[in-house]
Amino acid sequence: MPSLNLVTVPNPVLRMKSKPIARVDKEFQTIVQEMFRLMYASKGVGLAANQVGIPIRLFVCNPSGKPNEGHEMVFINPVISKQKGVEEADEGCLSLPGVTASVKRSKTLWVNAYDHTGNEINSEYTGFLARIIQHESDHLDGVLFVDRISEESLNSIAYSIDTITQDYLSRQRTGSLESDQQAMEIAAKWEKQYC
Ligand SMILES: [Zn+2]
Repeated sequence: MPSLNLVTVPNPVLRMKSKPIARVDKEFQTIVQEMFRLMYASKGVGLAANQVGIPIRLFVCNPSGKPNEGHEMVFINPVISKQKGVEEADEGCLSLPGVTASVKRSKTLWVNAYDHTGNEINSEYTGFLARIIQHESDHLDGVLFVDRISEESLNSIAYSIDTITQDYLSRQRTGSLESDQQAMEIAAKWEKQYC
């Protein structure tokens, strides 16, 4: 398997609407484990597949953010319903390192999905975990948390987003990062494999 890396804005795969997963294989389990590893290494609590350049409807999370604590969860083809209540709290994102902003999310929701072992998930989630699930599900639709904040807070973090963007573009120019076209070609291969 090619090595997976976290991608930041403005990687085009982050803006793709990820496709439903139709099949899994042995390599899929490796992808899941690698996503957990990358998530913990960057001190994240959730990671969507397109954040490692794979535009398929998969995300992993562990609200503890630590490998030997809490509960690891894998969601395949998640469908959110019965959203209730509103809660506002700060969020960050591994694709926008160092940027945080306050985001309104539903307090409670239901999720129907499958995990990586084929078990059906049909559960209610609340609080922090419900927030993670909404943030990661947004990724699968190509939506970032900064799309959901007020213009005022967006203005206050615009400089940080621009710095991340400029760094990305300069690494593309020097060839240390793949071009947009290469990223999209790799993404298409993953889609073909799992969708
Ligand atoms: Zn994120």
